[in-house]
Amino acid sequence: MDDVTGAQLIAEALKAQNVEYMFGIVGVPIIEVAMAAQAAGIKYLGMRNEQAACYAASAIGYLTGRPAVCLVVSGPGLIHALGGMANANVNCWPVIVIGGSSDRNQETTGAFQEFPQVCGVNHKHSGLCTHFFASLPSMFQCVSPQVEACRLYSKFSARPSSLQMIPAVVEKAVRSSIYGRPGACYVDIAGDMVNAKIDRASVRFVSCCPAAPVSQADSREVTKAVKLLKTAQRPLIIIGKGAAYARAEREVRELVEVTGIPFLPTPMGKGVLPDDHPNCVAAARSRALLQADVVVLLGARLNWILHFGFPPRFSPHVKVIQVDLCAEELSNNIRAASALMGDMRAVVSQLLETLKSDSWSFPSDAEWWATLKEKMVANAHMSKTLVHHSTVPMNYYTAFHHISELLPKDCIIVSEGANTMDIGRTTLLNYLPRHRLDAGTFGTMGVGPGFAIAAAVLEQTQQSSQRVVCVEGDSAFGFSGMEVETMCRYKLPIIIIVINNNGIYSGVDPDTWREMEKMGDMTTIAPPVTLLPEARYEQVMTAFGGCGYLVRTVEELRSALQESLKNTQMPSLLNVLIDPASDRKQQVPLSHATHHLQVSNTSDVLIN
Ligand code: ADP
Ligand code: MG
Repeated sequence: MDDVTGAQLIAEALKAQNVEYMFGIVGVPIIEVAMAAQAAGIKYLGMRNEQAACYAASAIGYLTGRPAVCLVVSGPGLIHALGGMANANVNCWPVIVIGGSSDRNQETTGAFQEFPQVCGVNHKHSGLCTHFFASLPSMFQCVSPQVEACRLYSKFSARPSSLQMIPAVVEKAVRSSIYGRPGACYVDIAGDMVNAKIDRASVRFVSCCPAAPVSQADSREVTKAVKLLKTAQRPLIIIGKGAAYARAEREVRELVEVTGIPFLPTPMGKGVLPDDHPNCVAAARSRALLQADVVVLLGARLNWILHFGFPPRFSPHVKVIQVDLCAEELSNNIRAASALMGDMRAVVSQLLETLKSDSWSFPSDAEWWATLKEKMVANAHMSKTLVHHSTVPMNYYTAFHHISELLPKDCIIVSEGANTMDIGRTTLLNYLPRHRLDAGTFGTMGVGPGFAIAAAVLEQTQQSSQRVVCVEGDSAFGFSGMEVETMCRYKLPIIIIVINNNGIYSGVDPDTWREMEKMGDMTTIAPPVTLLPEARYEQVMTAFGGCGYLVRTVEELRSALQESLKNTQMPSLLNVLIDPASDRKQQVPLSHATHHLQVSNTSDVLIN
């Protein structure tokens, strides 16, 4: 007999589905799963928190189109990973979470790290629910609380009913994660199944699932869209991370260049076309959104990032040509004037075919272009004055200006924080698709180090010389800061730049802090947004053998970044102390300030 264990079946099934990476934290009962994965040729990266492991795995899914695995232990391990699953699912990124669970014969007994039972009933109290469950037929009793917990944050959540079923369930999870709208999938493995053995001949093996099927949009909707576009006075193309995930850069570029229409990327849509493309009107973002009469929405949702498509940020009469593969997304918030359901590359090709038949393009001397260009020039001027402030501590704009001058054009920029992420989005340019990863649709803080590790491990495998630069607010860095050890352990030459303003949004300077300390109990005095002033985050990096730099001046910033860029062996951390009073550019007040939808701080992006 050729025996095979549950752990081996999981690992081999993943490998058969072209899964190449696994991130996780091992413990009983899944250590053997990680070891089997390595034996099967899957790269395993041990992380320091399951959330970060799940962020990393989901970034691999976005960057490669093939999901990676986040491997976690039962109970608390899986609960930590739920944050990462939710983030992946909300971002529409594929990821497979595999969670060990208690041995089946210990379920409901209060086993070590046993996930709380459904119904919230503690097994130690014999209440109604326990009796209720005990009276159910046995098929109901084996409902796994871990499977149920993950259902809320995934597209598919299941436990193989037997070792024989493992390859089929793994294939289904991988396929579900990338077919239709991508998302998170969960596979549960009971502890006793990990080392249990069966005869290989009794297993139903499943071959690798093909790439997601592609569908085109209804041709009548395509005709409608093109007709509408040709009558537009102020057309605008919005490029979202759906277009990036779809790898539609060639088609989208052709659409922009054939039509001559201005475009605006969403934060992670940046780079599908380079930020310095002549049709990019990011520097006139608010005006473009407000005055556009026809918007071509390419793989972006009309959520908070795009102010829901509502006034006062958009014209109440705006007509939306929406391209999305998810039927439920069409006409969300704003009724689509043309709803193009299908794969981005296929649908944009359809649009191009129809458009090219009579070689129409939007006139470059149109009033719309003049309006947008005038605003872009004015904003460029305003930014320049902020950049050249020579004060110490620096402001955001000065710091970002020098960082962007030194960064190679092909680097992958990971960014999170409040002002750090907002200002970084406008000042750090992207030139290549899928080269920006940030807090995303869910606005999750703590994603940076995990995303950076994923991007860097891909770079390491592909032996490309692209650098990963992780620009973090000091608060954001704190959420997953211990992943610095992971970076050092695997010698991933990530450059972390902590933009340190002593707090969430902003803190106080050291003198003010000391004054506050004299006034009494800091738990009642210190503003909740404050963090320890001038905290030495760079020492977190040196603690593990990486390079740390404390940066106060422009000269220190430039030399530390240049040195870090030369260092291809180890990660670096630049702790950039900036003025806690530094803020974003002045906002232009909106005329409809009383609008019923409160936009959050981060969504209330600059009036450009
Ligand atoms: P952003 O954050 O850039 O605004 P979102 O994540 O809100 O982008 O939206 C991305 C959209 O792209 C989702 O609605 C998703 O369904 C869609 N999408 C993902 N992949 C594809 C694809 N291959 N073709 C078309 N649409 C896609
Ligand atoms: Mg801060």
